[in-house]
Amino acid sequence: MSDAVLVLNAGSSSLKYQLVEPDSGDRIATGIVERIGSDDASASHEQGGATHETHGAVADHKAALHTALDLFAEAGTDLRSTRLLAVGHRVVHGGRRFSQPVVLDDDAVAAIDELSSLAPLHNPVNLAGVRAMRDIFPEVPQVAVFDTAFFHDLPAHAATYAIDDEIAQRYDIRRYGFHGTSHEYVSGAAADFLDRPADQLNLIVLHLGNGASASAVRGGRAVDTTMGLTPLEGLVMGTRSGDLDPAIVAYLERVADMDVDAVDTMLNKEAGLKGLCGDNDFRTITARIDDGDERARLAYDVYIHRLRRYIGAYMVDLGRVDAIVFTAGVGENASNVRADALTGLEGFGIAVDPEANTVRSRQARRISPDDAAVAVLVVPTDEELAIARKSAELVRAG
Ligand code: ADP
Repeated sequence: MSDAVLVLNAGSSSLKYQLVEPDSGDRIATGIVERIGSDDASASHEQGGATHETHGAVADHKAALHTALDLFAEAGTDLRSTRLLAVGHRVVHGGRRFSQPVVLDDDAVAAIDELSSLAPLHNPVNLAGVRAMRDIFPEVPQVAVFDTAFFHDLPAHAATYAIDDEIAQRYDIRRYGFHGTSHEYVSGAAADFLDRPADQLNLIVLHLGNGASASAVRGGRAVDTTMGLTPLEGLVMGTRSGDLDPAIVAYLERVADMDVDAVDTMLNKEAGLKGLCGDNDFRTITARIDDGDERARLAYDVYIHRLRRYIGAYMVDLGRVDAIVFTAGVGENASNVRADALTGLEGFGIAVDPEANTVRSRQARRISPDDAAVAVLVVPTDEELAIARKSAELVRAG
C-alpha cells in the first residue's frame, strides 16, 4: 500500500471513516458506525468490493473506532500494524485561530476544546474522535482540517454582524462560515474542469446537502458565505431554518414558554424542510409534490426562493460571474432544484440546458448551453479526499 490517510468525520452519534491514498485519490475502504451510545449500534464497512457489517452495543467513539478496526481486520487490513501517513479529522469550528490545518498536539486539542462554546454540537464530538485515535495510534500524526478555514479571511464587511462591536469582540461573534473544505475543493475542481486558472475565476458555489451553504469565491478566495457564527444561518436546510428574524427567538420565549435551548434545538433539528413539511429528503419531497401535496410544494418554494436570493446577492457581490457550481447530495442529484434555482436568468447570461441537466454522473459536468456567458456546473464534492490531501501535505512538510 502506498501512503494512506485515515479520514475521520465524527458526528454526535455516528463515525464516518475512509482510508484514502492521497496521491492517487483511491479509496481503500469506507465505513460508518451509527447509533453510537446505544445497544443497537450498527457498522458497515466497504472494502475491495465487499461489505462487512456488524450490530450490537457501541458505548462511545473509542468503542466505535475499535469496531471499525475490527471490520478492517475482517476485510484483510490490520490497521494497527499498518504505517499510516496520518489520521485526518474533520473539525467543524476553528474559530478565529485556525486558518489552516494543524497537527494535533496537546495545545491544539485544548484550543479546539475551548472553541466548543461556539460549536457545542460539533467540536466536542470531533474531539472525541481525536482523543480516541491519539490513544489507539499514539505514533501517527493526527491532523485537524477545519470547516471554517476557507472563510477565515472573509472581508471584514462580510464577516461582521451589525451589533455592538465591544460585545462582538468579547464573545468572538463574527461570521465564520462552514463547509469550507467542500467550497474550496469544488472551486478548485471547477477551475480544473473549465481548464482555467483558479485565481482568475469568479464562482458562486452552492453546497446543497442536508446542511446547505452558498459562497461567493473571487480568484480562489471566499468573499462571502451564507453560514455565520454557527451553521444555522443562511439557506433553508434539511432540518435547519437558515435566516430568520432574530426577534422570533425572544418572541417564542415570551409567548410559547420555550427556553433558549428548546428554541435552539427546534431551529437546528425541527425546522427547515422538515419543519415546513415533515420531510427533509428531496426525493420524498419531489414525489409528494408530484402527488399534489401543498405542504411539500410550499417547503420547496421557500427553499428555492431563499437560494435564489443568495444567488442574486452573490452576482452583485462578484460583479462578474464565470460559473455557478452545484454540489453535495441535493446539488449533485436534484435536477429540479438546479433548474428552478436558475430559471428566468437568461438576461444575466445564466441558463440550464434541460437535456444536460438530466444527465446523472459522478463526474464534473456542464449543464448550461455551450454559448451561455456563465457556465453552470455540477461538481461532485469530496471532502474526504480534500482532508486526506491536506493532512498528507502538512505531515510531509514536516
Ligand atoms: P450531508 O452530507 O449534509 O448529510 P448530503 O450531501 O449527503 O448531506 O445530502 C443528503 C441529501 O441529498 C438528502 O437529504 C436528499 O435530500 C438529497 N439527495 C440525495 N440523493 C438524491 C437524489 N437522487 N435526488 C434528490 N435528492 C437527493
